[in-house]
Amino acid sequence: MITKNTVVSLGYRLTNAEGKELDSASSSDPLSYLHGHKQIVPGLENALEGLLVGDKKEVSLSPEEGYGQVIPELRLKLPRTQFPEDMEITPGLQFEANLGDNHHVFTIIGEDGDDVNIDGNHPLAGQALNFSVEVLGIRPATEEEIQHGHSHDGHSHH
Ligand code: ZN
Repeated sequence: MITKNTVVSLGYRLTNAEGKELDSASSSDPLSYLHGHKQIVPGLENALEGLLVGDKKEVSLSPEEGYGQVIPELRLKLPRTQFPEDMEITPGLQFEANLGDNHHVFTIIGEDGDDVNIDGNHPLAGQALNFSVEVLGIRPATEEEIQHGHSHDGHSHH
């Protein structure tokens, strides 16, 4: 059963309010996450609590339960000179930076004259999300995974 400190493998299909597919994971390459450690959006994590292997569920999330509302203050215009000279300003490129006390992932929107427009909102902020999920596997997490706060399955160890 999915509870805190289990590692869960999920197949899922994520669509927005218009039914457009935004993301997916199949049984051959499932999403693996550590339950109860905010590795996935809060609304989805809550909805998965208590499910068993083989369970399927449709989960509809408001923007607040997903990636949050769009914060206009995180849409910034910075002088091109603030970026390394040899850095190519490619729309869609992401970089990490601190703003105040918060750590954000910014996405480059594009150049605008001598400025660069960037956006620190999650690309899915402000969107209602529909997840169609299937629980493919559940196992107890290792001590190391619990310490790190993430699953060590797959290719994304840090
Ligand atoms: Zn780790």
